[in-house]
Amino acid sequence: MSLTGPYDPDNIFAKIIRGEMPAVKVYEDDRVLAFMDVFPQAEGHLLVISKASQARNLLEAEPEAVEDLALASQRLARAATKALQCDGITVTQFNGTAAGQTVFHLHFHVIPRWADRPLAGHASGKMEDSAVLQGLADRIAAAL
Ligand code: AMP
Repeated sequence: MSLTGPYDPDNIFAKIIRGEMPAVKVYEDDRVLAFMDVFPQAEGHLLVISKASQARNLLEAEPEAVEDLALASQRLARAATKALQCDGITVTQFNGTAAGQTVFHLHFHVIPRWADRPLAGHASGKMEDSAVLQGLADRIAAAL
C-alpha cells in the first residue's frame, strides 16, 4: 500500500482496538492504546496506537492525534527505561510500504536498546511467546 488510499477499518490494529484480536496491553485510555509488539525488534518493544484517528500514517494525522501519540510515547519510553534499565530507547514510525510500514493505522514504535544487543529485523522473525510479553508488559505498566 502506498502513502495514499483509504483507511481499512479491518486492519489488525483496528481489530485490536475493537477487541476482535488479542493484544498484550500496557496502557489504555480513551484516545491511545499501548501494547507489546509480537515480533519485537528488542526486548520490551511497544506499539502506541491512536484510538481516535483513522489516519493511516503521520502525514494524514490530525494534530490532536499526533499530540496524543507523542505524549503517550514519551510516557511509555520513560516507563520502559525505568522498568528494563535499557541503555537507550528508539521512538520511531514508518510511513508507506517503501518506508517499511506494514500496518496502515497510525502508530509509534517504542523500542528499548542495549549497547551490546543488535536490533532484530522489523516486523519479521520469531513471534514472541505471550507469557514473555505479558511479563514485560507488567513490568513496564508498573513503572508508568
Ligand atoms: P509498521 O511496520 O511500522 O506498520 O509496524 C507494525 C508492527 O506491528 C510491526 O512491528 C509488527 O511486528 C507488529 N504487529 C503486527 N501484527 C501484530 C499483532 N497482532 N500484535 C502486535 N504487534 C503486531
